[in-house]
Amino acid sequence: MEYFFSEQQKTIKSLARRIAEEKILPVRAELDEKEEFPWGIMKDLADSDMFRVFVPEEYEGLGGGCLDLCLVVEELSRVCSGVAISYAASALGSLALLEYGTEEQKQRYLPGIASGRKLAAFALTEPTAGSDATAIRTTAERASGGYVLNGTKQFITNGGEAEIYTVIALTDKARGARGASAFLIEKGTPGFSFGKREKKMGIRASSTRELIFRNCLIPEENMIGREGMGFILTMRVLDQSRPGIGAQAVGLAQGALEAAVDYARQRVQFGHPIISLPVVQNKLADMAIQVEAARVLTYAVARTIDSGAKNFTEESAMAKVFASDVAMKVTTEAVQILGGAGYMRDYPVEKMMRDAKITQIYEGANEVLRSTIAAELRKRKARRE
Ligand SMILES: Cc1cc2nc3c(=O)[nH]c(=O)nc-3n(C[C@H](O)[C@H](O)[C@H](O)COP(=O)(O)OP(=O)(O)OC[C@H]3O[C@@H](n4cnc5c(N)ncnc54)[C@H](O)[C@@H]3O)c2cc1C
Repeated sequence: MEYFFSEQQKTIKSLARRIAEEKILPVRAELDEKEEFPWGIMKDLADSDMFRVFVPEEYEGLGGGCLDLCLVVEELSRVCSGVAISYAASALGSLALLEYGTEEQKQRYLPGIASGRKLAAFALTEPTAGSDATAIRTTAERASGGYVLNGTKQFITNGGEAEIYTVIALTDKARGARGASAFLIEKGTPGFSFGKREKKMGIRASSTRELIFRNCLIPEENMIGREGMGFILTMRVLDQSRPGIGAQAVGLAQGALEAAVDYARQRVQFGHPIISLPVVQNKLADMAIQVEAARVLTYAVARTIDSGAKNFTEESAMAKVFASDVAMKVTTEAVQILGGAGYMRDYPVEKMMRDAKITQIYEGANEVLRSTIAAELRKRKARRE
């Protein structure tokens, strides 16, 4: 398929593929097994300017958009989704700053993120607040010189490893959806510590950790946007980041498809390679169709975002839901094509299947996003009447 990438996008994509093949492939099983954060690979990505992709040029970035970021995430995820999400989470943690940050905040934080010296993270989820973000309990009370944060965030990607955190906290409990605000919080701030590091089914190279705030004083100038904008900003950030999960899912599915084709070509049963069996051919063809359809939708939504479109909630949710469901189906089929070997850790597809599951859950569970899409459809219908 011809996707009409710019020269920069072609370069970024091929560089990301090279890093994935040369640096990630040899260690992915070990990273998964040891649940080890991939600092060595983060350094390789930084040295190749991959963290500059999603940062504007005036802050030492390459000025790429959502599609550029998706291309890197897809290529990394084709080999290891745990590494890909550690990279992508830094973009997620930067999005609020990029869109709503002051000039001073951008000058202060973005060059460090662009260089890859500092990872970022985004912290919304809490034990009481998953799909229902408005149920967060972390508070940010006004104090002399700023706000004092108290509360615990849960399941935060890059938790403990990132230097810069975008944290959503309640500045006014009584104001409901208008009662939250966003803060930039640096690792090492007194009163900010890390709790449980989760042991996960998949994406095990990534860090998923609790953030704990105990009387943590944050200066006023670290608020992103205005007081009360926390949830609006969160929705906007997630709308922009969901194609990245779509790209993660596409990469995963592509990797699983390639592994299944390779295996089916060399596995001989009943005197012939199993790829000569119509049932296997049908499976592979369906997998390929689904992967390409997920890729087309993900790229199209990323391009819509890059075009400066104002509202893309529905499209962004569609890309994430569709691609993640494809990743789950395709990786499961890949395991089936490899038969018993597919179930073994000697082959990559069991890891890909474990890694795929999370794409249906985070950044909005697919059930919730289907409701979001339906709500947009309802609104559109009402506008037509
Ligand atoms: C590995 C990992 C990394 C993560 N990284 C981050 C991160 O970096 N930052 C961050 O803030 N969060 C992060 N999260 C949190 C993630 O976004 C949430 O787990 C996700 O939004 C779902 O919330 P929950 O787990 O509380 O599930 P729940 O909200 O408890 O949902 C449980 C089930 O109920 C269903 N459900 C709930 N409400 C509805 C509804 N209204 N309609 C239909 N179905 C519904 C869900 O679809 C799901 O199947 C991460 C989670 C994981 C597992």
